Amino acid sequence: MITRFAPSPTGPLHLGHAYSAMLAHDMAKASGGRFLLRIEDIDQSRSRPAWEDQIYQDLTWLGVSWEQPVMRQSDRLDAYRATLDRMWNDGVLYACSCNRADIKAAAFAPQEGVSLGPDGIIYPGTCRNLPNDHTSLPNEAALRLDWSKIPVGAFEAGQAFFEETGEHAGRHVVSLDKLRKQVGDVVLSRRDMGTSYHLSVVLDDAEQGVTHVIRGADLFDATQIHVGLQQVMGLPTPVYHHHRLIRDENGKRLAKRDDARAIAKYRAEGATPADIRRLVGLPPAE
Ligand code: GLU
Repeated sequence: MITRFAPSPTGPLHLGHAYSAMLAHDMAKASGGRFLLRIEDIDQSRSRPAWEDQIYQDLTWLGVSWEQPVMRQSDRLDAYRATLDRMWNDGVLYACSCNRADIKAAAFAPQEGVSLGPDGIIYPGTCRNLPNDHTSLPNEAALRLDWSKIPVGAFEAGQAFFEETGEHAGRHVVSLDKLRKQVGDVVLSRRDMGTSYHLSVVLDDAEQGVTHVIRGADLFDATQIHVGLQQVMGLPTPVYHHHRLIRDENGKRLAKRDDARAIAKYRAEGATPADIRRLVGLPPAE
């Protein structure tokens, strides 16, 4: 088993992150496998070196150890670019200059039924068939994957599969038809970013040889996008394990702004790593 924890250095690690990291670390150790860390810092406007340092400190304190070197997404821009170049030349991407308001307006136009997918409003396709005079990758626009250009044969008769061992355990079908109609053309490169969460996570899990993706249940619905992209790019599909989310006393899931549950805060108040394990419902470390 090769698994990973992939935090974004945009705020303090809280109890939910600690649970995710320790669970993945425990599972890797129990199976004699490997645990990797990946810093997801493609959003340079929100990522801070200080948060990255805090991640290393908090994880070390929690008893989590990882292999060196740590993969950082900001070091991977050339790899993302090479994939986007290839897909652009294959004609499966298109440039999209819609902003959020444009997408909302088009999607809410009376003749269109508004639908929500795992990626938010299903993109109504405004830019899909615009004439396009770019011979190489345009930088000033977002790039979307045109699912309609992906042949059914890129999947197994239009279907792909993944195995889930956490919440919703079982074998799941990912259908190309559903990706076209109920997910929509996903952004693979944001304007001025050179990639997107979906593209990076899929390429990086493959590059790191991750066999088991262990992460929060909030990402379960995005998994069909990831599995679809693996088919398009000819990459292996790992096993997925989506774990329960850690919630506050009102049942709301923790967010980055829940500083009250930051690991650093518990540490400062004298909690031990064993206390944190108990709080998130993990058995004592061996
Ligand atoms: N970077 C993502 C986050 O912090 C996790 C992505 C993943 O595990 O696939 O929520």
